[in-house]
Amino acid sequence: MKQQLAHAMVIGIDDKEKAWLPARKKLCLPFNFSKVDHKSGAPSSQTGSCELDEAEVRQLLMDHVGHRYCSVSEPARKGQIVFLENFFAYAGTLETFIEERETVIEKEPYVSGLYAGEGLQYDIWELDVNADSPQMFVEKELRFTLPHTEFVQLCDNCNGQGKIICPSCNGEQRTHCAKCSGIGLIAKQNRSLTRCNACSGKGTVYCDFCDTRAIVPCSTCNGSSMLVARSVAVVKWKTLSVQKASTTSIATDTPAEVLHKATGNQLYNMQAYQCNPAFFPYSNFFSSLSSEVIANRATVPPSARAITERHIISSIPVTRVIMAHQNHLFSFYVTGYDRQIFVWDYPSRFCRGLCCCFEWLNF
Ligand SMILES: [Zn+2]
Ligand SMILES: [Zn+2]
Ligand SMILES: [Zn+2]
Repeated sequence: MKQQLAHAMVIGIDDKEKAWLPARKKLCLPFNFSKVDHKSGAPSSQTGSCELDEAEVRQLLMDHVGHRYCSVSEPARKGQIVFLENFFAYAGTLETFIEERETVIEKEPYVSGLYAGEGLQYDIWELDVNADSPQMFVEKELRFTLPHTEFVQLCDNCNGQGKIICPSCNGEQRTHCAKCSGIGLIAKQNRSLTRCNACSGKGTVYCDFCDTRAIVPCSTCNGSSMLVARSVAVVKWKTLSVQKASTTSIATDTPAEVLHKATGNQLYNMQAYQCNPAFFPYSNFFSSLSSEVIANRATVPPSARAITERHIISSIPVTRVIMAHQNHLFSFYVTGYDRQIFVWDYPSRFCRGLCCCFEWLNF
């Protein structure tokens, strides 16, 4: 391995990468949770070995890259693994499930004879939507028209005129000739110029859109010059989420997006109207991770109210690999028990076109 590391140095590892190198062969044991008071959150035990060896990470990368019979997969197949580290990341999340309500005005053309309401105003938070509310942490949007809120107003697109200046010819009754691009001349195959037949050399043609009337009916009010406006209640349930991660690796810069959707083991799970920081008597590490997450709780917008919160701490197995292929170094992460792969600087472009693998046939 020393040789491999030396090789990595020779082919030019930047300082950030060097920081990873001494950390090879970190322990792969999660914190011992048997002593931890988990309160309501039932911890699931860490099962099996999560540690990946060189053959396994190479196989995972090859599966991810695909194209195993062409040059696209060559760095994955033949690249040299110069660094491999298995470690655990601990992610603390605080999700805030909120209900947001707002009123929007919807407008449509006025049709004569349509009953116009009284323009009633509602306190939107007095509406009872309990029967339609979703399960906790399930997103949903509800829209419904508020009764008796309709009122008739002049169309704001045509200022109540019912018609507008033709947008195609700008009221000039003629538009640019598309055939000659308004030049009036057309180039023939022998490069000589000839008069455009479509516009008789004028460069403009009569406007089809308005039929040379220069004005057209307003499409917003269908020419009626009036609109019916009504209030529509929009109720949205959604989850705001904050996450903070710490790792057992000496490299603390594991990108957040790598851990964001990783499947980990839940070590703590608490749901309450407002979660407090979890206290782990045997682990300052977890207590402070929890405190940091709770302190960064998402801001509930003024148009919304919080319904409940869920605070989870989970452990995520992470494998970080640096590979060298020809004169390039590239790195990738394998995260979670479902082994998702994150590669940023893979040296060969993923092939989207015709290649000898014919894998593009599947797309
Ligand atoms: Zn109009
Ligand atoms: Zn026109
Ligand atoms: Zn023309």
